[in-house]
Amino acid sequence: AAKSSGGQLVEYTAALDERAEAAESLGADLRHSLDDGDFHVVYQPIVDLRDSSTVAVEALVRWVHPARGFVSPAAFIPVAEDNGLIVELGEWIMRTACRRLADWRVTLGAAAPLYISVNVSARQLSEPGFPAVVSAILTETGLEPAALLVEVTETAIFGGGTAIEAVETLHRSGIRIALDDFGTGHSSLGLLRTVPVDVLKIDKSFVDEITEPGRNAVIVDALIHVSNGLGLRAVAEGVETEEQAEYLRDLGYHYAQGYHFGKPSPDPMTPSPTPTRLTV
Ligand code: C2E
Ligand code: CA
Ligand code: CA
Ligand code: CA
Repeated sequence: AAKSSGGQLVEYTAALDERAEAAESLGADLRHSLDDGDFHVVYQPIVDLRDSSTVAVEALVRWVHPARGFVSPAAFIPVAEDNGLIVELGEWIMRTACRRLADWRVTLGAAAPLYISVNVSARQLSEPGFPAVVSAILTETGLEPAALLVEVTETAIFGGGTAIEAVETLHRSGIRIALDDFGTGHSSLGLLRTVPVDVLKIDKSFVDEITEPGRNAVIVDALIHVSNGLGLRAVAEGVETEEQAEYLRDLGYHYAQGYHFGKPSPDPMTPSPTPTRLTV
């Protein structure tokens, strides 16, 4: 038995080594791609459920590596957080997204999205200069603080000692804060007592199966009451069907996001004649 468990340990260690090596090589590629301009930002509409009009957009990063091809953010964001590159990458994403909103204001006028939503990771929040960097980007792009919404997860807020302070500083300056993937963390409701939050993004896992009788429907119903009662705005994530949209409308939801309304795309504000535009 000792021998076989020893063998397993060797295999296990080898697997860990391989994973560490894979992460390291992915990390090195991230560095090169940041210098070579292989990252793009796409934008997904956040719509008003009453008329499906786009009120805002969420910026989502895309990586098309020359050899690896498309790499999912779910695969590379954690690596960029571990090796610290997320700080530089995240600043680039924030600047790119803010510039884009400034461009839309010029080209679309009143039809431009009201605000841009940008995901910020734990590592970025605990970088001491982060609020100042964001403020410089707003000045540089001519956007007022209310034009920016920063999406943070419950885990990110609990992750680093100074993350909460960064959120407070951003909020005091007029930048709005969304709790992303709301309901999937450890202390969702407790956070609402202590962290300044403006928007709750109700996680897709609750929205899935909402139209079938069960717990998800009860939870999504309860969350709109929590949100309204606290004077927050709720955005239902991952809406894929008209049935789900209808159900959310009936519960009193005003805002939603999901493939049903629009996939992330390089140019979500230009209606496409065909539904097959680039959605990577
Ligand atoms: P997230 O912030 O919760 O973003 C929503 C994710 O759900 C996006 O995946 C989006 O494409 C996908 N999505 C939207 N609507 C639907 C739908 O109706 N059905 C399904 N199945 N999926 C939908 P994506 O772009 O692959 O991003 C995954 C995660 O990676 C994000 O989750 C976020 O945590 C992280 N991420 C993406 N972009 C950035 C970024 O610029 N910075 C940081 N720090 N993290 C990012
Ligand atoms: Ca998000
Ligand atoms: Ca989310
Ligand atoms: Ca998510």
